[in-house]
Amino acid sequence: MRIARFSIDGNVAFGAVEGEGTVESGGLVIDIIKGIPYTDFELSGTKVPLSKVRLLPPVLPNKVVAIGRNYAEHAEELGNEVPEVPVAFFKPTTSVIGPGDAIEFPSFSSELHHEAELAVVIGRMCREVPRERVKDVIFGYTCANDVTARDVQRNEAQWARAKGFDTSCPLGPWVETDLDPSDLAVQATVNGEQRQLGRTSDMIRSIEDLVVHITEAMTLLPGDVILTGTPAGVGPLTVGDEVAVTIEGIGTLTNKVIKRG
Ligand code: MG
Repeated sequence: MRIARFSIDGNVAFGAVEGEGTVESGGLVIDIIKGIPYTDFELSGTKVPLSKVRLLPPVLPNKVVAIGRNYAEHAEELGNEVPEVPVAFFKPTTSVIGPGDAIEFPSFSSELHHEAELAVVIGRMCREVPRERVKDVIFGYTCANDVTARDVQRNEAQWARAKGFDTSCPLGPWVETDLDPSDLAVQATVNGEQRQLGRTSDMIRSIEDLVVHITEAMTLLPGDVILTGTPAGVGPLTVGDEVAVTIEGIGTLTNKVIKRG
């Protein structure tokens, strides 16, 4: 099931996306969900065309935990070794934007990069999750763009500003709850031109590894998000660009880059 969060006439709700098509092509409808989707929920049967709503980030995370250098070819392209222990960092909740929202080019950077990533959405409160229980704590999967001020990342020991500035975490367009994430194509295009193309099967640490590693340290809450790292091909974004992250079996997350006003 594809679960979207959206606003219509000033009201915010979750809904199940039905039909064939894409956000751009149309043909999709949303069946409004009664309540919050992480527990047993009911569809209301009230349907609205997707074209009539504004899609919002599909989750409201308490935190976004991101993993760096999880694809060997990407670590190599930036001149980095594959780390012995996964590199984990936070992106703040204020960095999260939804499909169609603008990525604001930060004033303190002159080198902005896209990073297409599979995002894992957590469905229940959990800590110290054993490997065999990982699938029980996952709600679903969405597309993410770990937008990075690469020059700032090089110059500052911690990545809080480089990867945590406002609008640096586009998520969406919805959460797919029925998906085997083990071998999916992850793609980024800029203005329609392919920049990144990798497969989740090339991740150095699997989703199981990452959930075990993160929850060893901290409690994850429903709606929390794990970014699983980006494949090779990261590259520059400039003002006016349209960047799209497409993940097989999920959909396409599209955002435009603007100058911060
Ligand atoms: Mg990344």
